[in-house]
Amino acid sequence: MSQMPPMSLLAVFAHPDDEAYGTAGLMARCQAEGIRTALVCATRGEAGQIADPSLATPASLGDVRQRELECACLTVGISHLYLIGYTDGGVAAVDPALATRTIAEIVRQERPDVVVTFGPEGVYGHPDHLAMHRFTVAAVQAVGLRDGEPDRPAWPIARLYYVAPPRSLYSQLPRILASAGFPVSPEDADPNPAAFGVPDEAITASVDVRSLVEVKRAAILCHRTQIFPRNPWALLPDDLLRTHLGVEHFSRAFPPPVPGAGPHPLAAVPEPDPTRREGTEDDLFANVKRG
Ligand SMILES: [Zn+2]
Repeated sequence: MSQMPPMSLLAVFAHPDDEAYGTAGLMARCQAEGIRTALVCATRGEAGQIADPSLATPASLGDVRQRELECACLTVGISHLYLIGYTDGGVAAVDPALATRTIAEIVRQERPDVVVTFGPEGVYGHPDHLAMHRFTVAAVQAVGLRDGEPDRPAWPIARLYYVAPPRSLYSQLPRILASAGFPVSPEDADPNPAAFGVPDEAITASVDVRSLVEVKRAAILCHRTQIFPRNPWALLPDDLLRTHLGVEHFSRAFPPPVPGAGPHPLAAVPEPDPTRREGTEDDLFANVKRG
């Protein structure tokens, strides 16, 4: 009898650093628990703004960001990186059938039990995020359907989650920085705080990664060309990161969340000692069944 391969997580995002903010803690935790982790990154982030002009030029940015992403993967212990190489800012222009096939092929290869990607709001509506959400959902559906491609075995994943940064928490970040002694800056006046993250009610799983904030910080700081002033991960000491940003939030897209599942209490008011609300998941792999 062949041995059952280890459990596996596949995260699918658009740009270098999407993975670090959304899932570095989860992936580091998976690594520690013997769960294989793989990452799909659609672009090399070559069209972004450069936080420190001494690190890259517009011409070199794609190469530099690829190395930064590789640094983050090593830091977190990600088993495999799939860099698709779509044009940064142009993912929505990719033929959806082709993009879906590309991601579906990776799913067939990786055979993940759990897939994590962007939700339909794309965290803050970036068109590349929205496109990767659509392509990934379509790919997971295509690979999971036994009649999708009759000649090829199906791989029905056990669960699909969306990253779900709580809007309430992120709107508090300027206050958290101020209370830690970093002066409030005019940039903190967000004209549209509702544009970032998801309402707390959308969260159905909250993974405690407080013991891994140092790993998560190191992964985020690998993305040096994207560390702008006021980044809390560059500024806050470990204890405040643990308190305020030590939990990663998700919403379960498939199968539908259990009735009564509500937001994790930490989503709204971070507390040093988390107590979970009944029905809210704290482990994306708990009771996962194959096949
Ligand atoms: Zn992104």
